[in-house]
Amino acid sequence: MESITKLVRPNILALKPYSSARSEFDGEAEVFLDANENPYGEGLNRYPDPLQRALKAQISQLKGVPADRIFLGNGSDEAIDLLLRIFCQPGQDHIITLPPTYGMYKVSAGIADVAIRTVPLLPGFQPDVKGILSIANPQSKLLFLCSPNNPTGNDFTPATMRRLLDEFPGIVVVDEAYIDFSTQSSCLEWLKDYPRLVVLQTFSKAWGLAGIRLGMAFAVPALIRLFNAVKPPYNINQLTQQAALKALRDRETFEAQMLTLLAERERLRRELAALPFVQQVYPSSANFLLTQLEAPDTCYRYLMDQKIIVRNRSRVALCEGCLRMTVGKPTENDQLLTALQAFIPTNTSL
Ligand code: PMP
Repeated sequence: MESITKLVRPNILALKPYSSARSEFDGEAEVFLDANENPYGEGLNRYPDPLQRALKAQISQLKGVPADRIFLGNGSDEAIDLLLRIFCQPGQDHIITLPPTYGMYKVSAGIADVAIRTVPLLPGFQPDVKGILSIANPQSKLLFLCSPNNPTGNDFTPATMRRLLDEFPGIVVVDEAYIDFSTQSSCLEWLKDYPRLVVLQTFSKAWGLAGIRLGMAFAVPALIRLFNAVKPPYNINQLTQQAALKALRDRETFEAQMLTLLAERERLRRELAALPFVQQVYPSSANFLLTQLEAPDTCYRYLMDQKIIVRNRSRVALCEGCLRMTVGKPTENDQLLTALQAFIPTNTSL
């Protein structure tokens, strides 16, 4: 299997990671006097498991991916940040993103002082494979494919993603934050074929746990070891690990919520499309609808006056005139639709 080592920053390859006495001990200890904790308390006085073994065992079952191919981060945002730090030498390497897409790839690159090259999506919001491959070179360390894409809501076709995995020389990160809302299969199935593939998923969307900050990265064990070497030792706190384990035991709630959200997405799409000032509602494989309408800025402010917040994407290239609306509870979607039915589109700039 092709090695990813040649893509890694030399300082990261040479890193001697932080090691705690507890991670050096394998048996069942009785007395813990190694970590300067307070002995009083009912669990939260102790540092959490730095490798989140119990939680990974459950996620491994759910996803059908061995635990040594799973990294857990403080949101998938942490995984994005760590990928930049593992692979990209500031002032030398760059990442490639396909706008319009999720904003944190660019922000994380900016923080890390890593350059970014952009290859806009084609009409239809698919990646421009030729454009990407024509600018790719050995300094192109990370390519971010967001599928389903935020804010456009569409899946990238499997053939497009496979072609990029076959031909892009660096790491291909497929951000699947919204995959549970899609009918398309996850790229997790391809992990065994592509050592340069990283798949990101999250508990923030379908699992309804944005507040606990828990993201997943799936990759070859060698890359998972690098994630573990560079992460802060206790990046997933005890309360988060407990809350995720509890949610994973209750699949019924998850399934029921998903059914409601998917039905509401269809209802919202239909009713939005019927409004006279709505020009188009893009098809969505996610839990939001990108909606192009007349007078988007006025509409955005009007909704705010009604205490309804949506995302104004009207100035984003390829999303001109669009607001992005998340699918809420049925009552919240009713509130949005009632407000929009009373909206009179007149153009005023923000
Ligand atoms: N990826 C995409 C495409 C997203 O839209 C978001 C959040 N909006 C994230 C990643 C970040 O998710 P998390 O809450 O896991 O950090």
